[in-house]
Amino acid sequence: MIIVMNAPVARELERVLDKIRQLGLEPHVVTAAGKTVVTAIGDADRDRCEQFARLAGVERVVLVQAAYKLASREFQAENSVVSVGGVRFGGAVVPVIAGPCAVESYGQFRATALAAKASGAAMLRGGAFKPRTSPYSFQGLEQEGLAIIRTVGQETGLPVVTEVTDPRAVGLVAEHTDMLQIGARNMQNFALLKEVAQAGRPVLLKRGPAAGIEEWLMAAEYLLAGGNTAVVLCERGIRTFETATRNTLDLAAVPLVKHLSHLPVIADPSHGTGNWRLVGPMAKAAVAAGADGLLLEIHPWPEEAMSDGPQSLTPANFRQLMGELSRIAAAVGRTIQHGKGG
Ligand code: PEP
Ligand code: MN
Repeated sequence: MIIVMNAPVARELERVLDKIRQLGLEPHVVTAAGKTVVTAIGDADRDRCEQFARLAGVERVVLVQAAYKLASREFQAENSVVSVGGVRFGGAVVPVIAGPCAVESYGQFRATALAAKASGAAMLRGGAFKPRTSPYSFQGLEQEGLAIIRTVGQETGLPVVTEVTDPRAVGLVAEHTDMLQIGARNMQNFALLKEVAQAGRPVLLKRGPAAGIEEWLMAAEYLLAGGNTAVVLCERGIRTFETATRNTLDLAAVPLVKHLSHLPVIADPSHGTGNWRLVGPMAKAAVAAGADGLLLEIHPWPEEAMSDGPQSLTPANFRQLMGELSRIAAAVGRTIQHGKGG
């Protein structure tokens, strides 16, 4: 059961909490977007909901069956729109985030960013902290990478998203970027989720490589319950028996999660396939399936990339894809946002 209160005075909130405890339920209070939301976990039924609906300060009471409460469509019927420096995810306009897997140098990130902008990318991406499978692989430029991200973000005027891998680095990363990315490997790093919930930045939450839809939405619930409602979900492929592609991009998850949740869902066909030849077709398929955005890896010289070169589009491939995406989006009643350059 979820009880939405509109600016309750302390006495009204206490009354609601007391009544929840009397029923043997556990209350949890979240304050976000000017509302106070009390979730009561445990058995609740319609009669009980009505009792709460009559209490002073209560705006509405919703009975949510799903394990994820605040993330569910039952709680919020209309789509959430998440704004990142003016770029909106979850509306009719579909933004494309593009950039290299890793920030390798100022020159490389700037060249990639200018190419992304020229073809209409709405936002930039680039990793400063890289969660690599091998400890001997390039780990990212870390603090130096963050400084480059901020500089190039300011130079291009495009908002930037970068991954944060360590709860202790959340404040620092938040100072340098417009959106925080939780990587697939960290989807259930609950300490990180709790810290990021408090960071005052929108969050891009990737699906874990072996996470079911409910686990993914429960990870989002950690962010929402922590008071951060600006959450964008990202399908980036899951691990299956198939080894011909890096991951199996689960595109059915896009319309399914949008049915189950009000949160925007974007797709990452770069990590989802691991192969640049498959990125364009799957990017188009994702938009056709209703994705609220795309995350694409591009690199000016993919053969020299320090990470994920095989799945990176060249600037020319990216330019062509952006044109094709516009036609796909139009066919499903949407438009691709063309950022400040394209
Ligand atoms: C990334 O986007 O840079 C990345 C590491 O992706 P994932 O967490 O999906 O593997
Ligand atoms: Mn990558």
